[in-house]
Amino acid sequence: MQTQLTDEFKHSVIAQQANDILRSCVHCGFCTATCPTYLQLGDELDSPRGRIYLIKQLLEGQVPSAKTQGHLDRCLGCRSCETTCPSGVNYHRLLDVGRQLVEVRVTRPLSTRLLRFVLRRFLLNRFLFNSSLQLARTLSPLLPRALTRSIEKQSVASAHRLQPSRQAHTRKVILLDGCVQPGLQPDINLKTRQLLSHLGVEVIDCLSTTCCGALAHHLMAETESLQQARNNIDRWLNLIDKGAEAIIVTTSGCSSHIKDYPALFSEDKHYAEKAGIVHQHCKDISEFIQLKDMPLFKKHEVIQSIAWHPPCSLQHGQQLHGKVKSMLTSLGYQLVEVKDQHLCCGSAGTYSILQADLSAQLLKNKIKYLEHKNADVIATANIGCQSHLLKQSNRPVLHWVQLLDYK
Ligand code: SF4
Ligand code: SF4
Repeated sequence: MQTQLTDEFKHSVIAQQANDILRSCVHCGFCTATCPTYLQLGDELDSPRGRIYLIKQLLEGQVPSAKTQGHLDRCLGCRSCETTCPSGVNYHRLLDVGRQLVEVRVTRPLSTRLLRFVLRRFLLNRFLFNSSLQLARTLSPLLPRALTRSIEKQSVASAHRLQPSRQAHTRKVILLDGCVQPGLQPDINLKTRQLLSHLGVEVIDCLSTTCCGALAHHLMAETESLQQARNNIDRWLNLIDKGAEAIIVTTSGCSSHIKDYPALFSEDKHYAEKAGIVHQHCKDISEFIQLKDMPLFKKHEVIQSIAWHPPCSLQHGQQLHGKVKSMLTSLGYQLVEVKDQHLCCGSAGTYSILQADLSAQLLKNKIKYLEHKNADVIATANIGCQSHLLKQSNRPVLHWVQLLDYK
């Protein structure tokens, strides 16, 4: 796709990057067939191709409007279009550029700016978030079911008590705590520590790590997001120097974002190389625990069948879809067929709050297909999807690591 950059953008590095991406798009439209917002709304401007066209117009000097911003805001960032695209268009990077350019040209209404600010302050303040969570759990009989279900702790009974593993091992790793996961589903990382210890791997404490930066990035607070990433990079490199072999992440949205650090810091002469080292060490838990390790684990007796929901950040963002399925199947679980597994559940960070109606529709479709075969549980790999699915699901929704018991 040929783009005539205006003088304003001719010397801008990010505009040049966007132009390179635009050139790789041949406008074939294959991506529209797997875009959840296009399938839902039927508007070309709510499809990947339509959004690409809007960003091209922007770089050619067209003044964006609130309507342009709306089409870009409605994108889930699920990257399903990237999996489908035969030309390898780096859509999410282009979307980042488009959103940044629109953000400084279109002023959002005060109420929207306020909501975005409150979300950042609330979700990233662990004390505030966990205290509110505790209060909501106490008042749960008085609250709507969708809210109370989404904050219910999900666990599986096991012969091994879930407690912090303190066993020392030669192999060491960093385990990302995440911002909301420790409060919502603390069992996930507790279980991960146990599984890693069972594999002879010790988790080094890295308590001062902040959010990976994804949340602020999605809310267009780029400076804040990059600062969080810089803090993490500095702390992790320090521990990598001391022998940590990997940064393990149990929330696929975070592992996907951390793997994007090199692109986010490509023009930062102090952090570009460091971001590359972090990228090399970042492993989603489904990359670190492997099929060859399965003989050390076993399935839970009480669970037979699973409806697997691969988060977009795992299957499209990191192309890691099949690994979890193979591991769970090898343990003897029956993975039921789920229609439209490639489509987003509508969680997408804060999308379920900022685009509530569209998100609710996507969730309804997703639950219908996940529950169709009456599996015992739903399994996923991302805290956002887990909480979102819990709002409407009638069965337990677990992180897949919780389905690994050990001998
Ligand atoms: S499938 Fe790829 S090349 Fe075709 S329109 Fe979509 S982004 Fe462009
Ligand atoms: S990222 Fe997802 S919602 Fe956005 S254009 Fe691509 S497929 Fe559609």
